[in-house]
Amino acid sequence: MPIAVLSPDVVSRIAAGEVVERPASVVKELLENSLDAGASQIEIEIKGGGVNTIRVSDDGCGIPSGEVELAFQRHATSKITGLGELEATTSLGFRGEALPSIAQVARVELATRCEDQPAGTYVQLQNGVIREKGVRAHHRGTTVTVRDLFRNVPARLKFLKSSSTENSHVVNLVTQYSLAYPEVRFSVVVDGRKSLQTPGSGKTRDVLAEVYGVQAAQAMLPIEAGARQGDLTPHVAGYVSPPSLSRANRSYMSFFVNRRWVQSAMLGRAVEKAYEGLLMVGRHPIAVVCLSVPPQTVDVNVHPTKREIRFSHEPLAFNTVYGAVRRTLVGGMPVPEVEFHAGDLAAPAAEQQELDIPETGLWGGVRAEASATPQSPPSRLPILRVLGQVAGTYIITEGPDGVYLIDQHAAHERVLFERVLSQISNRQVEVQALLEPATLDLSPAQHEVLSRKGDLLAGFGFAVESFGDRTCLLRAVPAVLAAKGVEQAVKEALELLEDDADPARRQEHIAASLACHGAVRAGESMSPEAMRELIRQLEGTASPRTCPHGRPTMVHLSAGRLEKEFGRG
Ligand code: ADP
Ligand code: MG
Repeated sequence: MPIAVLSPDVVSRIAAGEVVERPASVVKELLENSLDAGASQIEIEIKGGGVNTIRVSDDGCGIPSGEVELAFQRHATSKITGLGELEATTSLGFRGEALPSIAQVARVELATRCEDQPAGTYVQLQNGVIREKGVRAHHRGTTVTVRDLFRNVPARLKFLKSSSTENSHVVNLVTQYSLAYPEVRFSVVVDGRKSLQTPGSGKTRDVLAEVYGVQAAQAMLPIEAGARQGDLTPHVAGYVSPPSLSRANRSYMSFFVNRRWVQSAMLGRAVEKAYEGLLMVGRHPIAVVCLSVPPQTVDVNVHPTKREIRFSHEPLAFNTVYGAVRRTLVGGMPVPEVEFHAGDLAAPAAEQQELDIPETGLWGGVRAEASATPQSPPSRLPILRVLGQVAGTYIITEGPDGVYLIDQHAAHERVLFERVLSQISNRQVEVQALLEPATLDLSPAQHEVLSRKGDLLAGFGFAVESFGDRTCLLRAVPAVLAAKGVEQAVKEALELLEDDADPARRQEHIAASLACHGAVRAGESMSPEAMRELIRQLEGTASPRTCPHGRPTMVHLSAGRLEKEFGRG
């Protein structure tokens, strides 16, 4: 075929395909226009998965009647005038492509009125061409109705998923925007049924309550890291879930850069890294992270949909987000109060202590070397005085503000978990030699892992030899283990080793398992000395408030609460 220039019609159809991939892309473009127009209320209505009808109505500034036709011309925009402004733009749109692209692939009606105009304007387009224009009453703002999406692009139509999938993309998209714009009232109606309504109160926590439920919203912890004047450090604000609240996939993390919803694997990694050691493998946080950066330091113009973003100082963005989240999780995490009045709890004042970790006294035996003092940030645990033990399971302590109940098993798990990880990273794993080698029966699968990955097991402090084809001889075990947990711990470690997950994650998993098998059990009575020792060790950990699985190690019954209960307050 000879080379020929494509007709403008074909060119614009191709360009339209870049912006409008599916119904949710139409909603995104219309929504962004409404936000750029300063709307305080945006109503979205879809029918038939968005293919039948999409209607977005706002109370924004409206389009002057003389400019309505221009709005549908390619590269016509009121948001920038030249390249200089492109660098510094803070509006969501600027390419002038959305309305003409949508009009190429659907039937579009637009009705609009500006504050100072007596009557509204109405236009109707088909195949990108204006068919009708007139005067029509309209409230201040703009309503765009898109019908028969992709009817003239059968290939695209075929590519769409079921209506329910397309619906959920739309609802998810609006949900994301509602988190970044808490001052805007969003509503979404899908096939006549209301799917989302946010209050527009300006408070992110109110939106979180709509989106993730009241309980989750109350438990979420605020994050903040400040940009310094004249600095390139981004300002970070938002909310993250405490480790006790997690999800099975990553889709509950939302990122916004200069109030634009973006997809960024880098920011996702920064948040997840902050949860290291706090969440189990396979669990992910809920997060709403809003970055404000000087517009010149990001490039949003990577792709027509602007979902990707490039930072000119990527490590700076990573570290600021990581630091903001980590500080909140490790330092300021409130101890859950009895009855979980999480919302209004202040973190206890920081108490710094010099710590060295003596023997636990829970496993008698020879230790190769005293464990190193953990290199952790100062613990924010208040100083706790041990009063006694309840149900052989909880240690009662008194702190500066009332009573703290500590789950002895969870607390000890935390201590041992961090000890195992620090010993491994310092290459100083404490080993406990057994006086008599123990014989263990293994399953064929366990035996097979032992033969392939025995050296990895040795790295944790196990000395195991294969013996026959179903048994093994255990000569030494990690010193953190308690005598009765040994057999289970070996088998579990072999099972975890079989999993070919990322080695760092696998290591955490095994450390958590060793900690669990080494920790004092619920129901085991402890001497006052052993309890004091455990509390002291807990104070030395980096994350004293949760066990390695993210469950709380303690609950707080404040003096105020006691007063109320006894009718004194
Ligand atoms: P862009 O948003 O990139 O400027 P669009 O094609 O999305 O391009 O919109 C073209 C122009 O139409 C915008 O620049 C704006 O002036 C006007 N416009 C579109 N939607 C609205 C709206 N909901 N309210 C007010 N003005 C709008
Ligand atoms: Mg736009």
